Amino acid sequence: MLKKYFIRWGLVLSAIFTCPAASAPTVIEEEYPVVILGGGIGALTSAIYLSRAGLAPVVITGPTVGGAITQSHSVQNWPGELDISGVALTEHVKYQAVHNGAILLNETVTYVDFSKRPFIITTKQLSGSNETIRKIKAQTCIVAMGATPNLLKVPGESKYWSRGMYSCAVCDGGLYKDKVVAVVGGGDSALTEAHYLSNIARKVYVVVRGDQFRSVEKERMQSILSRPNVEVLYNSEVKEVQGNEKEVTHISIQDNKNQNKQQLAVNAVFLAIGSTPNSALFKKDLELDSKGYVVLKKYQETSVEGVYAVGDIADPEFKQAITAAGDGSKAALQAQQYLTQYQPKPVTKKTSTPVSKAKPVIEIGTREELAKLLRETDGGVILDFYGDYCGPCRMFGPQYESWAKEFQGKIAFAKVNVEKENGLCEAYQIRVIPTLVILDKEGKVVRKSSGSMEIAEVGKRLDSAKDSVHIDPAIFK
Ligand SMILES: Cc1cc2nc3c(=O)[nH]c(=O)nc-3n(C[C@H](O)[C@H](O)[C@H](O)COP(=O)(O)OP(=O)(O)OC[C@H]3O[C@@H](n4cnc5c(N)ncnc54)[C@H](O)[C@@H]3O)c2cc1C
Repeated sequence: MLKKYFIRWGLVLSAIFTCPAASAPTVIEEEYPVVILGGGIGALTSAIYLSRAGLAPVVITGPTVGGAITQSHSVQNWPGELDISGVALTEHVKYQAVHNGAILLNETVTYVDFSKRPFIITTKQLSGSNETIRKIKAQTCIVAMGATPNLLKVPGESKYWSRGMYSCAVCDGGLYKDKVVAVVGGGDSALTEAHYLSNIARKVYVVVRGDQFRSVEKERMQSILSRPNVEVLYNSEVKEVQGNEKEVTHISIQDNKNQNKQQLAVNAVFLAIGSTPNSALFKKDLELDSKGYVVLKKYQETSVEGVYAVGDIADPEFKQAITAAGDGSKAALQAQQYLTQYQPKPVTKKTSTPVSKAKPVIEIGTREELAKLLRETDGGVILDFYGDYCGPCRMFGPQYESWAKEFQGKIAFAKVNVEKENGLCEAYQIRVIPTLVILDKEGKVVRKSSGSMEIAEVGKRLDSAKDSVHIDPAIFK
């Protein structure tokens, strides 16, 4: 067994045990003063505060760096920004955190033990050639893993997500001024969404599955439902979301009593059927409420001293980017205060960090930029065609970045945003994203891969060449 030791920031221990069997995962053990679980706006805001305090927090980002707001193409309620895409917003926040010394790990938390100190967080690498398990000891933790909106699970819903299908009227309702919208749900949040939208849209349908609203205050309900542009459809269920490929145009609704179906012309649908906090991992250690939200005492404190929770995972009410950020700042200040009892050794930014300073992936948009890249590289190029609003692209993004870090210098990696490029999509006949196009030194296409199986095959071929100095693009044929 090969056993290497290395010291990280003068802290206690850090050891890698590499097992001889090729399939055995690498286990890394480390210790940090503060670990942030999640990589959304709440987590990244905590990371800014903690890194500025010199604590070099580790942020376990999970599958979506930037979190839920990256699904929004237009955020109009972030202070200081009239209109910014969620991706751009979180890129700024992420940059600020990393610039100040936060360490981002594209890994997912698989297990936590908050029952003893230091706390232990187990993570799994999301991508890369080997499976890597990290066991991190932490004096204090900030839990920021968000919540997942509940879905109807009907045809058309995911296709039109963010193009007429939404889960937050305060976030996206402003796009539907004088349009017709539907709110789906029969609880207080459906009424709140309907109220908000009735000040913007020309017509608001409220689609309620049962024959009445659940647990709402009568007077409030009457005042909202009596608005001239609000109409309730009781005993009704949305069965399909339809559109013109670009955006929602109709929903198909079934009457639960007589099973009759009708088509309703709407420009947007707002789901108000709740969300599920991503808190399953914390069930055994933290107090959760009946819906799974982390219960807070005060100032983001959870039931375990030294563990704080921020944003949507602990917020059944507001679920906004700015509220998550506010929580994030409070938790970071609390964690700093808590750490004073441990007198952590000062952190220096000099030693190695998992965030590479050199850019392993460059962004290109024109044929000229591609030609320049081909001139400058010894081997070929792997191009990743992606879009900011493409869910599978966001899922694949960290894997691509991880390949780029691992194989940097052996083959070039470049990303092409299909919404900004100039001629490259046409040149390579890109019809779906994500698509990988692999070019040899002369710029000839060696392979074009879309779909998870095809992309996984590229990963396998990369792995097969991990001991080579350069990667010959011919291996991808
Ligand atoms: C489509 C859409 C549009 C929105 N528009 C707006 C808007 O315009 N304005 C506004 O204020 N709010 C908006 N919101 C709400 C806003 O995005 C959320 O309130 C905010 O993102 C919550 O931040 P958070 O940090 O609590 O969690 P999230 O942003 O949800 O982040 C959760 C993080 O946890 C990570 N994670 C999950 N599981 C694991 C795991 N096992 N291990 C490690 N990490 C994990 C995820 O990768 C992610 O990084 C919108 C939400 C959506 C869905």
